[in-house]
Amino acid sequence: MHYFLYRGSELYCEDLPISRIAEEVKTPFYLYSHQTLTRHFRVFDEAFEDLPHLICFAVKANANLAILKLFAREGSGFDVVSGGELYRALRAGADPQKIVYAGVGKTPEEIRDALQAGILMFNVESPQELKAIEEVAASLGTQARVALRVNPDVDPQTHPYISTGLKKNKFGFDIRSALQEYRVARQLPHLEIVGIHIHIGSQIVEIAPFRDAFDRVISFIADLKREGIAIRYLDLGGGLGIPYKDEEPPTPKDLAQALSSVASSLDCTFVLEPGRVIVGNAGILVTRVLYHKSTPEKHFLIVDAGMNDLIRPSLYGSYHGIQPVIRKGDKGDSQPSSIIADVVGPICESGDFLAKDRRLPEAAPGELLAVMTAGAYGFTMSSNYNARPRVAEVLVKGSEYRVIRQRETYADLVRGEKIPEW
Ligand SMILES: *Cc1c(COP(=O)(O)O)cnc(C)c1O
Repeated sequence: MHYFLYRGSELYCEDLPISRIAEEVKTPFYLYSHQTLTRHFRVFDEAFEDLPHLICFAVKANANLAILKLFAREGSGFDVVSGGELYRALRAGADPQKIVYAGVGKTPEEIRDALQAGILMFNVESPQELKAIEEVAASLGTQARVALRVNPDVDPQTHPYISTGLKKNKFGFDIRSALQEYRVARQLPHLEIVGIHIHIGSQIVEIAPFRDAFDRVISFIADLKREGIAIRYLDLGGGLGIPYKDEEPPTPKDLAQALSSVASSLDCTFVLEPGRVIVGNAGILVTRVLYHKSTPEKHFLIVDAGMNDLIRPSLYGSYHGIQPVIRKGDKGDSQPSSIIADVVGPICESGDFLAKDRRLPEAAPGELLAVMTAGAYGFTMSSNYNARPRVAEVLVKGSEYRVIRQRETYADLVRGEKIPEW
């Protein structure tokens, strides 16, 4: 469910024709729908209403301040994985007591900043990190709230780059040795054990991996209880998938039911860290066709957005729907002719594509295309490769829009660079 819909031949975002925004903002740009973002957050939140819970939106999926602010206003907390994300969340007005901090490589400076901000808890990923947090907390004369991230060794059956809960992955403590680590943590005077964390992967489209992970972590919590270690926060991570093409992922309600069927008797607050499922189809990337080039083998639509703007197709082979912003053949014209083409960007890499062998309506130079479902891991993974300024981000609410991040300029590209006097 989202609010990028055609009215007649024109694709709208809520009540605004996208072509009008493109005229004013220029292309390419990311476009987000306020109503879709709000709706997705609320649907997720309401799915868990029967359980004590805290939603911590995963900042890495979409870190724009305006979007974080929108979620903060809805009562969301935040899952951060770096000092920079912590800074963003705080700048957006996040309640520090609703911030959880994961990631395998937290530095002493990042740990200090998070402690000083008063975050809810660190999701700790290794024995040495436990000691590092203990040391920083001791130096500040405080106690750090911690959860251990355990790796339940379940296969989320998603792309290997985004599965995180397998034995061979770098994340968390192996669930078989985690009990020993909890005992160690309990001895450290500047740590307060408050929780346990799992996050098994992303774009998960089956309920079974979640069930397996829940079962394993819940039986582990029973082991902890026997040792006298109480868990106040059970953080279940994110990972719920979305339909990019024809996937039929479980709904937030399905996830909540799977959880309440095994965990409703636990005396703890459930933390959820959704990212993609909240922002994924609340955003699109709008791009303009520059050229149509045909070789003896193929058709190429060369557009003004590239892999530096949206890397998911190149990195994971991901599918994104592509739709014309103004479709032809609506007003009784003859059916528009279609082609099978690769949609490619201007980057000097053969891996620079947004779609491969895609049937699309014939598109002439100057026409606008909407790359759908680009709200998660879109802008946040963008780069300046090929010295391309990062694109603008725009938020629509009803019939209004605001630029929530300006397009970078060439001056932005060289900011901070210095040529030595020799
Ligand atoms: C990436 C990540 C998330 C969000 O994952 P989604 O698949 O976008 O829901 C949540 N928690 C942690 C620890 C993550 O690394």
